[in-house]
Parts: sequence; C-alpha cells; structure tokens
Amino acid sequence: MNVELKNQFKTKIDDYEPIVGRNVIDELKLLGNHLQGKKVQNINSTYSGGGVAEILTRMVPLVNQLGLDVSWDVITGDDTFFDVTKKFHNALHGRQEHITESEFDIFLNTNENNIRRMKLDADIFFIHDPQPSALITQRSAVGGKWIWRCHIDVSHPDQRVWEFLNRFVAKYDAAVFSAPAFSPKLPIRQFLISPSIDPLSDKNKELSKGEIEAVLHKYGLDPGKPMVVQISRFDYLKDPIGVIEAFKMVRKGFNCQLILAGGTANDDPESAEVLNDVRNHADGHRDIKVLLIPPGSDIDINALQRAATVVLQKSLKEGFGLTISEALWKSKPVVASAVGGIPLQIINKFTGLLCHSVDGAAYALKQLLGNPELASQLGENGREHVKQNFLITRHLKEYLLLFIALNHESDVIYL
Ligand code: UDP
Repeated sequence: MNVELKNQFKTKIDDYEPIVGRNVIDELKLLGNHLQGKKVQNINSTYSGGGVAEILTRMVPLVNQLGLDVSWDVITGDDTFFDVTKKFHNALHGRQEHITESEFDIFLNTNENNIRRMKLDADIFFIHDPQPSALITQRSAVGGKWIWRCHIDVSHPDQRVWEFLNRFVAKYDAAVFSAPAFSPKLPIRQFLISPSIDPLSDKNKELSKGEIEAVLHKYGLDPGKPMVVQISRFDYLKDPIGVIEAFKMVRKGFNCQLILAGGTANDDPESAEVLNDVRNHADGHRDIKVLLIPPGSDIDINALQRAATVVLQKSLKEGFGLTISEALWKSKPVVASAVGGIPLQIINKFTGLLCHSVDGAAYALKQLLGNPELASQLGENGREHVKQNFLITRHLKEYLLLFIALNHESDVIYL
C-alpha cells in the first residue's frame, strides 16, 4: 500500500454529510457492515498521473474507514512494457497501432515478473485496466473473486488487441465499465459504474481568492485576462494541438489567454514527445501558456480550474474524463468533445456545450466568452448534475454493492 497515502489522508466519511446528507452516510456504513474485514486488493500501474490513480487515492482510505481491509499495489515494468501498454491503450480506443508478436510477449513476461514479485492476498482482487490484466492467470493458485475494472472506452477496439486481452478478461468473475456504451460482448458478468470526483480533496475543495491568485502568480498568468483552460496529461488523445488551433481562431475576436496545463504519468512514456510538440505548435504565442505541472499539484490544478473563464476538454477519445466533473463541480462553463464518457457529464446546452471538431470547439468557446449569462447558467446546472451523479459517495456505494453482488448470480446489473 502507498504509505504516504495512508499517512496523509485526513478526510472522514462523516465529513461528506453537509454535501450529501445524513442518509447517504448511514447507507454507506450499513453496506460496510455487510463487508467487515473483507480484504480487497487493488492493482493498477501507477500511483500518480491520470484518472485511475486520482480515484484510488481517495477511494482506498475511505473504503478502509467503512471496515473493509483495502490495499493498493502497482505493477512494475520497464519503458518497453509501458510503450507496449500505451499502444494497447491507443488501440483499444480505436487508433491503428502495429503491435508485434514480441511486444505481446513483453506484456506477458512483465505480468509474469509481477506475479513472482507481488503478494497476491485478498478475498477480492480489483484489477484496473489492461496493464495488469494477465495477473488473473494466478486465480487458481490464490483463489478469491476477481474483478476487471476497465476505465477506457472499448466500444470500438482494434480487434487483434481486444482478442488478445479477452483471453484474460474472460477468466474474471466480473468486469466493470464506466458507461453502458463502453461494454463489449463478454462471457462474464458486467457492472456499469461511473467514476467520480471527491469534493473534499485538494483537487476540488473550496479555495480562497488569495489562494487562487497565488497560483496564478506562481505560473506568471495574468488574472485580468479571460482564461480558456484545458487540464490534461500531455497525450495526443487529449488533442492539445487541436486546442491550440481552436484557441487561435477564438483569439482573433476575443482578448483572452489559453492555459494548457498538465503533467506526465509514470505509465505513459509518450508524454514528453507530446509536450515538445505542443510547445512547438504554441510557437511563442504570447497568449498561449503551456504549463508542465509536477505530480501532486492538486491545489494548483484546482486553482487553475477555478480561475478559468471557460474550461475546455477537446479529447479525441476519452474514458470518462474526470476533468469535466472537476470543472462542473466548480460551476465552470465547459466546452468538451462528444466522446467517451463526456456526454454523460455534458448534457448539451444544459450542463455545457459539446463539440465535434476544432471549428466546433472554437464556435462554442466564442458563444460562452461572448455570453457570460449563458456561461454562468450552464456552470450552475453542471454543478448540480455532478452533485446528483458523480460524487465519490455514489461511487463508494456502488463499489460496496458490487462486492456484495459478487456472491449472487445474475447477468448485467445496473446500479
Ligand atoms: N491531472 C492532474 N495533473 C495533471 C493532469 C491531470 O492531477 O497534470 C488530473 C486531473 O485533474 C484528473 C485526472 O488527472 O483528476 C485525469 O483524469 P481524466 O479522467 O480526465 O483523464 P485520464 O488522464 O485518466 O485519461
């Protein structure tokens, strides 16, 4: 388990009561009572960077507070392994990738190395995404129930990669997807559970004006000029180049600045190249700020989202897209692509504006920059939508129900 995480976590489950009400907290405790002492081992491929780490950082300690015995481990691998799994990631999102037989072998060998290295010991193994999926081969040796939690949109995958992975996925007791549209045909039970954000984390908690201004100052940003902000790992699937093109179109009519801020993830070796490319495209434009944000800078990200006039998320492919809920929770008007889990969060013209192209993104940005009243209404609606659907308390409840449901037979369960 990540020791740092254990020591730093101060939030108590009762702290959510002012936001979600007493009944929700009581229900979580009741469900926790049914699972006292159950050992749950989460395994993914990074402690920081990206949505999965973001969720586990908050989820693991909270489930422990409810009486379960939850741990979190990461698999290790060298750069060649993460090059291969990044290709898998892109291919599962539908991008064409050429993956050689020896690359499939790298995937298998690294999973086998991890089996030798890791202590697999739980009643429930909660395996996140493709990287550690082949750990399931240990099932007969270690027993327990096995869940594959898929955080990406696998509705139109590259067939060769999907068939390879399916050899492992089909051996699990259950698979969890973020949205109905993502779920492929599988011979095992499927659960549909959306991700969530934590309103009490440093990423999302309220900040004072002074705290926000201090962050803007630190990054040399002009607080007086309207800001279009996209926060993302530097990944081509987040379309940072498209963001710059759209912004350049908008900038012709609006005095505003673009903040493209993000970091890299330990399990994504492509990000340094993307960052370089983004800097070249920004080409010294004085209103485009490309910020490399170090891991763990949650207050900085929170402040940048709160300082935004409009938040943009122009992804080409997306799993769920936590950054959308993070922005909506802060009552921000959002322009985002209609891909992956984004339309669950952005109901077009009600909780934000959806776009389908660079031109569309530019058009929507202009609409919001030019109409603050509309922008503010969309932001308010967005916050309420997140409150009802995408807070961590709902997510906790669904995971506890999932653990209980593993011992009961059925096909698809809509929670
Ligand atoms: N994030 C971060 N630092 C960065 C870039 C992103 O902390 O430099 C966070 C972001 O706020 C969000 C998560 O990482 O909580 C990204 O999740 P999302 O689902 O949007 O995308 P993913 O990276 O998982 O594809």
